[in-house]
Amino acid sequence: MHAPSEEWTARSEAAMLARAVALADREIGPRAAAVAEQDTFAWETFRLLCAEGIVATGFPRALGGTEAPMRLRVRIIEATARVCSAAASIVTGTDLAGRPIAAGASPGIAADLVPRLARGELQSAFALTERLAGSDVGGLASTARREGDGWVLDGVKRYITRAPVADWFVVVARSGEARGARGLSAFLVPRDAPGLSVGPIQPKMGWAGVPIAEVFLRGARVPADALLGREGGGMALAQDTLVRARVGHAAIALGRAQGAFEMAAQWCGRRRTFGTRLGEHQGVQWMLADMATRIEAARCLVYSCAERYDRGEPDVPTYASMAKLHATDLGMQVTTDCLQLFGGNGYLKEFPLERFMRDAKLNQIGEGASEIHKSVIGRQVLRDAAAMRHPCLDLDAFEARMADTGGAA
Ligand SMILES: Cc1cc2nc3c(=O)[nH]c(=O)nc-3n(C[C@H](O)[C@H](O)[C@H](O)COP(=O)(O)OP(=O)(O)OC[C@H]3O[C@@H](n4cnc5c(N)ncnc54)[C@H](O)[C@@H]3O)c2cc1C
Repeated sequence: MHAPSEEWTARSEAAMLARAVALADREIGPRAAAVAEQDTFAWETFRLLCAEGIVATGFPRALGGTEAPMRLRVRIIEATARVCSAAASIVTGTDLAGRPIAAGASPGIAADLVPRLARGELQSAFALTERLAGSDVGGLASTARREGDGWVLDGVKRYITRAPVADWFVVVARSGEARGARGLSAFLVPRDAPGLSVGPIQPKMGWAGVPIAEVFLRGARVPADALLGREGGGMALAQDTLVRARVGHAAIALGRAQGAFEMAAQWCGRRRTFGTRLGEHQGVQWMLADMATRIEAARCLVYSCAERYDRGEPDVPTYASMAKLHATDLGMQVTTDCLQLFGGNGYLKEFPLERFMRDAKLNQIGEGASEIHKSVIGRQVLRDAAAMRHPCLDLDAFEARMADTGGAA
């Protein structure tokens, strides 16, 4: 297993990926259908991922993790999502709250908690969304007010993944007068904080094995050092988490599409209709060709986004939105088409396609729905365009000509 003291090399990355692929094929895949039968936390899958050192790859080296480059993380996530959404969600989700803790907690708290999160001894959850504030984060209504030498938190958080098993919550709440995202701060709240309670598991369409629940904060008291980072810096602190989560969703969608596609291709080589194999029909071949090509294009986008992240490029958030938008919309389409190729069997629980298709839907909604990412990308395109001067187009000259002739551009 990779140790925190070791730097990643091409060889150790390849070895880790090979272990993740073998774990997915031999252990996680065969138990995925059973995990999907009931929506309690997939503890056995979680333990396997911890034992293989995969959970630790999301945590900083200085705090007991083995922080893998994103180019390796996306390949591990892809390999696990190819067989099981819950497993992939555990890989992407364990560092969701862990990273703001590592980046924003006092050195003493971070040194105590983060190594235990990296080893899988503790669980954390990231509590941002509320009933009236999902896409529109600036509309968050949860509050944090100073009282004595601590903080008092009030509000209700909704859809919080792993809340049923979390020992610690990163809660984003409004702590001052500033409107929008600038007034938001992040707090580290233990499960046993007075005033914090977790609702029952909320039944959902897919992603069994990673339950969600509401988190209630009713006068929840935390000490002064529960503030993560600076006051009003909650969203800035969460930025890295959100980018990583978006790339993670893209990699999950990619892996799941790959898995569904492999099963459909196998099926098309065996199933016979009209006296020949399904795959011999040209319409089916073209479906398979389109899927294979688009999955490979999505893979290129996800991998290149991961490499931009590793290089610390400033425009990574836009590329993360592109990767998430493209891979998750494709994932929905591919799982639907693959189920179609299985015909009636695809609709049965006996086959995994219906699970893959139900799971695909969440990736288009969580961590910013597709429409929100389109807006993010579109706004960036227009900002970039303001500085563009295409050599074949001279709008200044055009506008000057129009002005001379009394017209408008
Ligand atoms: C299974 C699951 C797990 C989750 N886990 C977590 C978690 O761990 N922590 C957490 O904090 N949150 C979590 N979430 C919440 C998730 O991030 C939100 O559901 C998501 O951001 C969308 O917010 P919303 O549901 O409030 O939808 P809304 O914001 O109400 O949007 C509804 C629809 O309208 C569209 N829409 C909204 N505004 C616009 C616009 N301006 N233009 C065009 N279309 C628009 C959206 O794209 C969406 O399709 C989870 C959700 C689910 C379902």
